[in-house]
Amino acid sequence: MDAEGLSLEGLDPEQLGAVTAPRGPVCVLAGAGTGKTRTITHRIAYLVQRGQVSPGQVLAVTFTKRAAGEMRTRLRALGVHGTQAVTFHAAALRQLRYFWPRVVGDEPWELLDGKLRLVGQAAHRAGAPTTAESLRDLASEIEWAKASLVTPEDYPAASARARRDSPAHPDQVVEVYQGYERLKTRSRMIDFDDLLLHTSAILSDHADVATEFRDRYRCFVVDEYQDVTPLQQRVLDAWLGERDDLTVVGDANQTIYSFAGASPRPLLEFSRRFPGAEVIRLERDYRSTPEVVSLANQVIDAAKDRPAGSRLRLVGQRPAGPPPRFSEYDDEPAEAAAVATRIRQLLDEGVAASEIAVLYRVNAQSEVYEQALADAGIPYQVRGGERFFARPEVRQAMIALRTAAAGEREGELPDTVREVLAPLGLTAEPPVGGSTRERWESLLAIVELAEELAGTLNDADLPGFVAELEMRAQAQHPPTVEGITLASLHAAKGLEWDAVFLTGLTDGTVPIQHADSDDAAIEEERRLLYVGVTRAREHLWLSWALSRTAGGRRSRRRSRFLHGLIPEDHPAARARQQDGGTSARARRTSCRICGSSLVGTTAVKLGRCEGCPSDVDEELLTRLKEWRTSRAKQLKVPPYVVFTDATLTAIAEQRPADTGGLVSISGIGPTKLDRFGADVLALVQGDVQRDGA
Ligand code: ATP
Ligand code: MG
Repeated sequence: MDAEGLSLEGLDPEQLGAVTAPRGPVCVLAGAGTGKTRTITHRIAYLVQRGQVSPGQVLAVTFTKRAAGEMRTRLRALGVHGTQAVTFHAAALRQLRYFWPRVVGDEPWELLDGKLRLVGQAAHRAGAPTTAESLRDLASEIEWAKASLVTPEDYPAASARARRDSPAHPDQVVEVYQGYERLKTRSRMIDFDDLLLHTSAILSDHADVATEFRDRYRCFVVDEYQDVTPLQQRVLDAWLGERDDLTVVGDANQTIYSFAGASPRPLLEFSRRFPGAEVIRLERDYRSTPEVVSLANQVIDAAKDRPAGSRLRLVGQRPAGPPPRFSEYDDEPAEAAAVATRIRQLLDEGVAASEIAVLYRVNAQSEVYEQALADAGIPYQVRGGERFFARPEVRQAMIALRTAAAGEREGELPDTVREVLAPLGLTAEPPVGGSTRERWESLLAIVELAEELAGTLNDADLPGFVAELEMRAQAQHPPTVEGITLASLHAAKGLEWDAVFLTGLTDGTVPIQHADSDDAAIEEERRLLYVGVTRAREHLWLSWALSRTAGGRRSRRRSRFLHGLIPEDHPAARARQQDGGTSARARRTSCRICGSSLVGTTAVKLGRCEGCPSDVDEELLTRLKEWRTSRAKQLKVPPYVVFTDATLTAIAEQRPADTGGLVSISGIGPTKLDRFGADVLALVQGDVQRDGA
């Protein structure tokens, strides 16, 4: 069973069939975790070792950088060197650089990094809306059109057919799209979509280039083929020419980029296009425990209108594991704190940090997890999206706040912050658009930080707030270390971890609110949940929170996709009692000064109304801060990782006498209690004794 050193033993009979199939069209149609990526990497290795193709003649493509990296790692492990495993864009960029001088001459071009500036100019000229959100939506719409091979002239009809939610009147979109293209050409720029358009055009229009290219690349492999766009398919066709040496693998149930023009049709119709194709189906799930597989089957069984060819039932191959856990929390900080507590337990049990992931629907959700993990001293990395403080809207907000802080400002800090952020897109009500919503959520998160600070310090002002933000930004930018992964569900495609936390599973987030008017969009959201569930090898936690902020109105409902998955008598309803909800459970709900019930994150953290007098013990606070500085140095972490200012202030106000008092302060969970509880209590006690002396 050995092809000159390559072991084929770790393959089942169907996988082996795909790996050893003769060169020519091969299609693997199979569910998550069945070994599709493993099969194609083995196929490449097999063909190379058999001498049927040289490594440099193989071009393997996929859709995300991370997935391409995963393919390269697996190929290297199989001893294959010199095969390109890249994204469509990276492949096209390389080819264009190579062929451009010959085809176009020495006329230079520059790759446009982001469409916003030119779309802004075009929108202005077209009289279309030019707020930051409208521009982002217009840019996304142009991207969809280009990915779908829709010209400006065709846009109105095509967008109606695709039931697009146009960001402006279709005629206006046409004008912006045309204006954008004109401005771009005039400044000799090309955008990411043009990379693909030009590559396919050059290959179809220049026979000599096509001949040279086709001599160099003989064998094509596409992973995650269900997410191919018509534009990418055109490039693939140009690469192939008349040949059929193409292996594709995919899972129609994991199509999660339809909104951007992707379609599983080429995957499902592969054997119609290549009648001689070898079509292989895999059903054994090697990735996940039977418990996780069963949940995945349930999620996808509920899908409506599944296309023929996508009905597969996964059969788990691994030994039994823990059942998936469902947990409901009062608010997001409590949810995040419980997740952090559970992660600490997993780490203590020996699960590697790199084998744990927290996944969410929109990138803005990461902030509360970044904070909870920083509070718990757990290192993390944000994947496929940027860390909160690196996001463009957050950076813009910081600049705007810094500028405003330099001038005179009257009024309450949170109001001032809202005012400064309003022009950046912080409307009173959440917007419905996709990208605009993400942006809005990030800006709102900043206002919430301002509210928190305003409640902690009586004289909180804008310069102080800016300084606080800068410190937080630093605390959340520790040097890259091995850490747990924070990623959006989209960015998690193709990857796997021992433990996966699917967070924020409320209606309005999964499915996302703006999908609501459209059945097809709802189904895409369901597939996204299926992608999330199938990332877990063993431990799977699903959670949601009824309110966004601590003490806020508990008005959310858990995701409709969970109906029928959670047994009716399951304590999901009230899982907080078990799941590290120490701080949530014990947290004070009424003001310790006036007794009225607490509203807002800050009030809850302080244990008093924001308006009630602060009774902070300044001397104790100073000593706590000194202690924090030395501990942070000792542990080689930023001070914030030990305790935030807000938590120290709360300690100095409440002077807890015992561990019970300590954990009732939010921001102090079991981990912190373990590590720092004794120190803090001793510091507080010192204070009490001196009082009595
Ligand atoms: P996805 O749809 O999520 O991309 P996939 O079908 O590409 O999943 P892989 O990532 O290739 O699945 O495989 C899932 C896991 O199962 C990997 O850890 C892989 O090494 C393992 N695996 C696949 N096939 C086998 C096998 N025959 N024996 C043992 N382990 C296997
Ligand atoms: Mg895969």
